[in-house]
Amino acid sequence: MSEEEKFPVEISPVYEGERIRKGDMHVELGGPDVTYKWELVQAKSMDEVEDGKVNIVGPDLNELEEGKSYPYGVLVEVAGAQVEKDLESVIERRIHDFSNYVEGYMHLNQRYDIWCRISKKAFKKGLNSFKWIGKALIRLFKAELPFIEKMQVTFYTDPEKVKELHEFALKVYEARDARTRGIRDEDVDTFYSCVLCQSFAPQHVCIITPNRVSLCGAINWFDARAAARVDPKGPVIPVPKGECLDPIKGEYTGANECVEKRSLGANKRFYLYSAFGYPHTSCGCFETILFYIPEVDGFGCVDRGFKGPTVNGLPFSTLATQVGGGIQTEGFLGLGIEYYRSSKFMQADGGWNRVVWIASTLRKRIEDAIPAELKDKIATEKEASTIEELEKFLVEKGHPLAEKIKERKAALAAEEAKAAEAAPPTVTPTVTPTVPMEGVVAAPSFGGIKIVFSGAKIKVGKLTVVVEGGKS
Ligand code: SF4
Repeated sequence: MSEEEKFPVEISPVYEGERIRKGDMHVELGGPDVTYKWELVQAKSMDEVEDGKVNIVGPDLNELEEGKSYPYGVLVEVAGAQVEKDLESVIERRIHDFSNYVEGYMHLNQRYDIWCRISKKAFKKGLNSFKWIGKALIRLFKAELPFIEKMQVTFYTDPEKVKELHEFALKVYEARDARTRGIRDEDVDTFYSCVLCQSFAPQHVCIITPNRVSLCGAINWFDARAAARVDPKGPVIPVPKGECLDPIKGEYTGANECVEKRSLGANKRFYLYSAFGYPHTSCGCFETILFYIPEVDGFGCVDRGFKGPTVNGLPFSTLATQVGGGIQTEGFLGLGIEYYRSSKFMQADGGWNRVVWIASTLRKRIEDAIPAELKDKIATEKEASTIEELEKFLVEKGHPLAEKIKERKAALAAEEAKAAEAAPPTVTPTVTPTVPMEGVVAAPSFGGIKIVFSGAKIKVGKLTVVVEGGKS
């Protein structure tokens, strides 16, 4: 019997939506409680890869203590005549869906944000070694992406090794991201579209342009171009730009046609550089969320790693429910980190001048993108944890929105003063002595409501209690 036939759990796309709750997990790999986690694909020469090999550096699954979270790294090395550097990101992004085909293995996010769990049920069934996950990945990758001729996978759980390679992985991601910084949307005649996440958000379509990296942050314009070339029937396809309908909002006929077709009519127009009107949709893989704060008419930004509430009182997880699902929600966007560095960042909405609050965890990662003149004018949770504190901060620091905030506050104060002047004089109610109701008087009960007067001296002209359904 072959290894494949003896595989202890099922491998099928039906497990893609499987969620493993904390109480049901055997162990957690990566995730929010762990600092070092990553996944990385590297293109190698044919003689550097031993096809089908799975390595484990550190304790294997059956050596990890139940209920705990562990540092985690997954290194996939691929080779083939058509395998080139540009394909690394695209192959890497497929780790997400192929991992989720494995029954009892949950995989969320990408790059330095991965969050995986093994279920207790699958562990008991025999999913007790990384070798099974590695073998499943190799089989799925080679079946779906035949240009991969050789593949080997290494799983890292040794904390020191995970940390060491985390540094290396960050450099690789940065080098990939930096490639698109030199070109603009005007310089190309083709954009790309990806629907890999439709298994989670069926009407979501990503439009990837030089100035707008995918919201998962894992696929930029070069990566998408390479993917469409080697896998023309895959989830990433070219999108002829067509006519530019609005260069400020970023609306193109080609992108609109593609969105309408690939979302099966659910969405018809996309503005690539705005959160209003026809914003780009989001699945659930976004690296960050940009959210509108109506009280100051500005934007807040938060990344997945931020644990507390944002300035509007909502944590990332709650905001994510507003953003995701492939639905256009004005004022909310899922964004890839690299988009903050784009010269077209929120261009139609005022760009960086409209940003008022950034979670400190995100700020650390995009400090270089913030224009010098705004650096001390944008708050984090340390300067403002409520809207009131934020308004005060922005006015004190002279943020570009400060004048508008002052005007709005002055108008509000004037309105309140006017309302107070127009209000009728306050009448102090007089208490008319009346016949006391001694003892306890219970009114009849209405559909479960019972009113009891105890030792009260009350004069009631008429008492009406309306219960649900209008019965009095
Ligand atoms: S977020 Fe967009 S680009 Fe990234 S994998 Fe999903 S659909 Fe593709």
